[in-house]
Parts: sequence; structure tokens; C-alpha cells
Amino acid sequence: MKTALGSVAFISLGCPKNLIDSETMLGAIATEGFVVTPDYQSADVVVVNTCGFLAASRQESLDYIGKLLELKGKGRVKRVVVAGCMVANYREMLEQEAPGVDALVSVNDRSRLTDVLRGLTKTGELTRTVAISDPDARGTVYDDRARLRMTPRHYAYLRISEGCDHKCSFCTIPSIRGRFRSKNPEQVLAEARELAADGARELIVVAQDSTYYGQDTDRRKTLHELLARVATLPGVDWLRLMYAYPTQVTDDLIGLLANEPKLLGYLDMPLQHISTPVLQRMKRGTTRDSTMRLIEKLRSRVPGLTLRSTFIVGFPGETDAEFEELLEFLKLGLIDRAGAFPYSDEDRAESYMLDGKLPEAVIAERHRRFMEANRELLFARNKALVGTRITVMAEGESQDPKYPTQARSKADAPEIDCGVLLKGRHAPGTILSAKVVRSLGFDLLCESTS
Ligand code: SF4
Repeated sequence: MKTALGSVAFISLGCPKNLIDSETMLGAIATEGFVVTPDYQSADVVVVNTCGFLAASRQESLDYIGKLLELKGKGRVKRVVVAGCMVANYREMLEQEAPGVDALVSVNDRSRLTDVLRGLTKTGELTRTVAISDPDARGTVYDDRARLRMTPRHYAYLRISEGCDHKCSFCTIPSIRGRFRSKNPEQVLAEARELAADGARELIVVAQDSTYYGQDTDRRKTLHELLARVATLPGVDWLRLMYAYPTQVTDDLIGLLANEPKLLGYLDMPLQHISTPVLQRMKRGTTRDSTMRLIEKLRSRVPGLTLRSTFIVGFPGETDAEFEELLEFLKLGLIDRAGAFPYSDEDRAESYMLDGKLPEAVIAERHRRFMEANRELLFARNKALVGTRITVMAEGESQDPKYPTQARSKADAPEIDCGVLLKGRHAPGTILSAKVVRSLGFDLLCESTS
């Protein structure tokens, strides 16, 4: 299909918050009258929505851009547009390393992408567009409605705020996405209603720090009130909370996690480390003791809670003993789903100035040991589930003819956690009770019982 405006393909990189940006940009592109095509090898324009958080994510972005510029050189794609976080903080790098890019659109200018595309395809003739960047836009609260969703129909990400007010020393996000801005609750509810009407039975609540919600507007944390309202919406069956900050978890929120059936007993709460001196160097505002007290409280008040967390290994000055403390903490089994990042030395982050940087080989070895211990714990946890019943949501078709349905349990978020292979065929979004018959390590084989 052709229109005068031409076809646009879109590549989305990075985290779920970037994915929401991609979905809103795609929605605007389609509304404007461009043809959205999955075939980026022959589109008139390809937009890459980049992630600029870590060196590895910037490299991934540059790799994609490099491949697209090659296709452009061969005349296969006409124009390449780069959008997103990397443009906000690494524009000079992009201009130097990818000079063939036709336009750069910062994450904070994303609502202007369609203007840029129109400029590139005006009256059928492609014209060069200058990069745009508007630091004042870092105060904007975007409307995330009218998206063209890239997630499967049965789940969607629901963003409740923009930006971040914390000052974690390893993080550049506040400089990219600006200060914390809560979305108005009515706006969040309108977005949630739209997503539910579009078939999303599971809404995954995201923000830079979801637990800070309300602090900027009401001078108090009101996440529990917001989630209680979202849980009443027809069509919303699972509500999953991501990105809690350990100093911001309130008793009201814990009460809701324990008592609201639609709010899954699942909490993603990045802890980053457990050793107090490391946490202090990270400027997290937490200590080992405060973290242990919080986990104890969560565990005692929310039976069956799945706690997910992420950690950084090899932070500047991390001694052997501090790393062993982290490993021993992991082995306590208090964290059900863990992830770890090797420390990435970002020149724009405060931690870049810290002494005690570790050799890459040491960081890599610590990361390897963490992930190995984590895998063993996860495998043991999954094995212990054999014979029990779990609640799962069907996701689509699997490759296994004996277990043809791919599914996911309440304890697992999409993309980052474990999966389920289910006997029988079930439509995506179907929620059912299943008996675990075998563990494959990361994934479970299940038979449905209802
Ligand atoms: S909470 Fe810390 S790590 Fe997360 S976005 Fe804010 S500053 Fe970065």
C-alpha cells in the first residue's frame, strides 16, 4: 500500500519506557497518514528509537544505525531518522559516528517526530532536516494514548510518570528525562481504559521510580490510591508493579499488594547492592539493615510475594568482601527473580569520578559468578514447583507440539522472567490454573486444570 507520504518502518530499542515512546510515535505516524511497515529493508524512512543509558546499549543503537545506513547506501531505504535517549545526551557522538543520518529527534522532542517526517517527505521530495533539541521539553508530561502497540494485544505498559528526582551516582537518566513529573490520575485512568479496551488484560505499571508517584504534585506518595482505582477498571485482570524504589515503599502500598486481588503479588524493586558502603557510594539512601527490614516487612505482610530485583556488580571500590556479601545475600533466596549488570563507567555519571575502578576482567568474573548462582537458585525454585498449581496467562503458540501454548505465570513479567509451556491450545490472554508437571530449568511444563 502506498500513500503520498510514503512508508515508515520503526525499530524500538531499550526499556519498556522507550517502548511506550515508540508506540506513541507510531500512533502519531499512522494518524498522520504514513504507511507503517514492518519491512525496514525497503521503507521510505526508518526510525530507530535509541537507548543511551549504558555503553552497551549505545553500541547496540550504533550497530542498528550502521546497518540502516548501509542499506541507504545501496538505495534500499531512502532516509534514516534517529530518535530517543541517545539523541538527548550523545548527539555529537551520533553526528560524528553516523553522519549519513537524515534527522535526529531527542527523546524530549518526540511529539515533533511527525513534523520531521513530513519535512523529509514533503511533496514526495525528500529534504534534509536539522536536528531539533528542546531542553524545556524536559518538563512535559506526555499523553500516551492513541498508541500503535508493539506488545502482544493481551498486555501493555502503563506509564504513570516521567523523569526521576533521585541522584543515584551511576545513573544518567535524570539528565536525559528530567525531574520527576507525576501524570494526572485521570490521565492515567484514561490511558488504562484505552489499553484495556484494546484487549490488554494485564497492565504493567512503569516509571523511573513508580513509588515516588504523587510526591511532586500532592507532597505525599499516592501510588496505592492510583493503583486501587486502576484495579477497578473493567477488562483489567492483572496489574503488575515495576520499578519500586526501596526508600519509597509505603505501608499503604504494601497493604494494597496484600489485599487487592488484581494487583499481582509481584514487585520489581531494584536494590543495586546489599553492602552498605557500596550503597552509600551509589547514593541510594539505603543500607543493608534498611533493605533487610523492608524485605522482612514485605514478606510477612504479602504472603506468596514474588520479589524481583536488579543489581550492579563491580561498582567502583567494590572489594572482594563486599562482592561476597552480595553473593551471600543472593544465596539467602530472598529475591525470587534477580538480574545483574556489570558496572558500566559512564562519563556523564557521578560515579565516573570515583576512585577504585575495577579491571573489566574482574567485573566480568563477578558478573559470571552472580549469574551462575542466580541460575542455580532459579532452577531449584522452579523444580520445587513441580506438582503444584499456578495461575498462568496464555501468550501465543509455542514451538513444542506436545505443549503448544506459550504462557506466563503471575510470578513472571514479560521478556525478563521465566515462561510456561502449556498442554492444549488456549487463546492469548486466557487466564487459567495449571499444574506444573516438569521444570525445564528456566521454563515450566504445565497442564491446564481449568
Ligand atoms: S532511581 Fe536512580 S537508577 Fe533509577 S532512574 Fe532514578 S537516578 Fe536512575
